[in-house]
Amino acid sequence: MNHDVIVLGAGLAGLAAARDLAAGGADVLVVEARDRVGGRVEQTALPDGRLVQLGGEVVGRAHTAYTALVAELGLTLVPSYVAEPGALVRATPEGVSAGDPPHWFGAGDDARHREACAAFAALARTVDPADPWSHPEAAALDRLSVGDWLRATGAGPAVVRLWEIGQLALADGSCERTSLLAAVRKHAAVPGDAPYAYEAWEGLRVAEGSATVALRMAAGLAGRVRTGSPVVSVAVRRHGGCSVRLAGGETLTAGAVVSALPAGPLRAVAVSGVPEERLDSLHRQRHAVAAKFTAAYERPFWRAAGRSGLSESEGVLGSTWPQSQGVLSALVPPERYGVLLGAPPGSRTAGLLAEVARLYGDEALRPLACHLRLWGTDPWTLGYVTQWAPGDVMAVGPAHGTHAPPFYVCGSDQWVAGYMEGAVRTGRAAAEEVLRHG
Ligand SMILES: Cc1cc2nc3c(=O)[nH]c(=O)nc-3n(C[C@H](O)[C@H](O)[C@H](O)COP(=O)(O)OP(=O)(O)OC[C@H]3O[C@@H](n4cnc5c(N)ncnc54)[C@H](O)[C@@H]3O)c2cc1C
Repeated sequence: MNHDVIVLGAGLAGLAAARDLAAGGADVLVVEARDRVGGRVEQTALPDGRLVQLGGEVVGRAHTAYTALVAELGLTLVPSYVAEPGALVRATPEGVSAGDPPHWFGAGDDARHREACAAFAALARTVDPADPWSHPEAAALDRLSVGDWLRATGAGPAVVRLWEIGQLALADGSCERTSLLAAVRKHAAVPGDAPYAYEAWEGLRVAEGSATVALRMAAGLAGRVRTGSPVVSVAVRRHGGCSVRLAGGETLTAGAVVSALPAGPLRAVAVSGVPEERLDSLHRQRHAVAAKFTAAYERPFWRAAGRSGLSESEGVLGSTWPQSQGVLSALVPPERYGVLLGAPPGSRTAGLLAEVARLYGDEALRPLACHLRLWGTDPWTLGYVTQWAPGDVMAVGPAHGTHAPPFYVCGSDQWVAGYMEGAVRTGRAAAEEVLRHG
């Protein structure tokens, strides 16, 4: 059957695009490889009814496309863990400390850290997040890693270590392997006093569960979403219609195709009829490879010790934070993902719980339930969020996030830094472009 538009992928981006296309009167079909919608937002229910988010979870006030969609869907935003009382904990091989300054800081490090933050914010003010390539020193800033830049500005090893532990807490790539241009571009998109202001990026969550955003959009698209349908190839024809071939051999046709696939799985889809430069730019994008671990307890026991549940760590875990009442979330960053995979599968959960116990005490060893989601090696994600190594911003180039009608792109990778905001923002923008082209 012929459709006006076929959307590839039923994550937040594909669903947001399809929802607006359907509202605009288009006959749209979404094809999704998995047997569920949502992609990197996924939730499961505990026997006591509490929902546990296994993927994307929190957003910030600056995430206006996402927060507007949540309101349209009749869902509710509430303060996230950022509002939790208690101290942030930092754990390194030589010690565990609560609050600031970190236990490895010496005389003058706090001042050096503040100077580095101010210099970073000032540099970010010179970059247009929508067009970082127009910066007069774009190529040089892109070649430089954040770590090299910190050392060049006189930050010192203790400050570099604080930036590194913060970066890995977000499961981003190491400072040593992150482009300075990409980092300041991200900061320019959501400015703040520090490189990643938790309140601006993570101060809110959807009370009904972040995966409910995807489920509710899919419910509104009833009959227009086909799950269990991996796409293997796409042939784009400017005037003769496009065809999308599924793994089972079936071919679907449409006037336009919207790809809402993550960077990794997209590389395995054979796409023809799209300008080489456009495809090459898409194929140059990469992901930080990460895992998410959750541990559910009867109560938020860490509060009794004055801890907020937020931590930054140099273990296999990069961070923990309280997801909801009694549920802790944690991330394994790319630099440590291999260590996790190298452990026998049956011992991974115990190893991660031992790290949580080092932060908050032995009650951590007695969870009601744990979930370990290996997103980095999930075949339909192959990552976590967009990662920009030195040189990547220039290699992807100004084609980033652009369309080659009737082939359109969206997805969190097409925004400055991934995230649910990027998915919704680019999904809705792609739908607008398709409708504009008729
Ligand atoms: C562990 C984790 C924690 C995160 N935490 C946060 C957070 O707290 N806040 C935040 O804002 N963001 C967070 N993110 C990022 C956020 O979840 C994602 O950026 C966003 O959900 C991506 O949406 P998307 O639609 O662009 O891509 P996806 O959700 O990846 O959707 C793409 C869809 O395409 C499908 N697909 C892939 N290949 C094919 C194929 N060949 N054929 C058909 N379908 C295919 C996939 O199955 C998937 O459903 C997190 C991500 C992870 C993994």
